Amino acid sequence: MSKKVSKNKKVIKKKVAKKRVKIKKKSKQKLLNDVVLKEIIIRIAGERGYEIAKELMGNEIADEEIAKRMGIRVNLVRKVLYELYENRVVSYHRVRDEHSGWYVYYWRIEPERAREYFKHNKRLLIQKLEDRLDTERSTSFFNCGNGDLKLPFELAAENDFKCPRCGDKLEPYDNSGVVIALERQIESLRHHLVEY
Ligand SMILES: [Zn+2]
Repeated sequence: MSKKVSKNKKVIKKKVAKKRVKIKKKSKQKLLNDVVLKEIIIRIAGERGYEIAKELMGNEIADEEIAKRMGIRVNLVRKVLYELYENRVVSYHRVRDEHSGWYVYYWRIEPERAREYFKHNKRLLIQKLEDRLDTERSTSFFNCGNGDLKLPFELAAENDFKCPRCGDKLEPYDNSGVVIALERQIESLRHHLVEY
């Protein structure tokens, strides 16, 4: 009786192992096809960074192993991985090598965290641009026309409508171009945010 049970257990174990391999393969393909993830990684670490990140897709891997597989210096691999780590695209765990006493770092990709962090940063940027837009819309600016900074009405009045830099007369400055540019940028960022 007990023999039969343990045999069944073995069969179940084998099935689970097979299933796991299948899931890994599937998740690797899914990650490779993930264009948003690709865009996020390329923005952070460039095309070469993406090539390195691809090695992590579907499996956890040591940085030395990536360097060996790609035939590049391990320092370069680590530099890219740290950049991705700071942007929450990858995570790692370290294991002490019993023979050498050194730590080996195993890296994995974190697609959901990467997306969330990217979206979070985009939202912060939108907020910043909206604040700037509010200021542009609610302020009358004055400018000398010589490429110096434009001043809000209060500051221009304090300076007797003379440019503090070149001394020329300050004239009303039409900032409608800036307003339109900001509106477009915000709209485009909002539109993209939906895709992530
Ligand atoms: Zn000036």
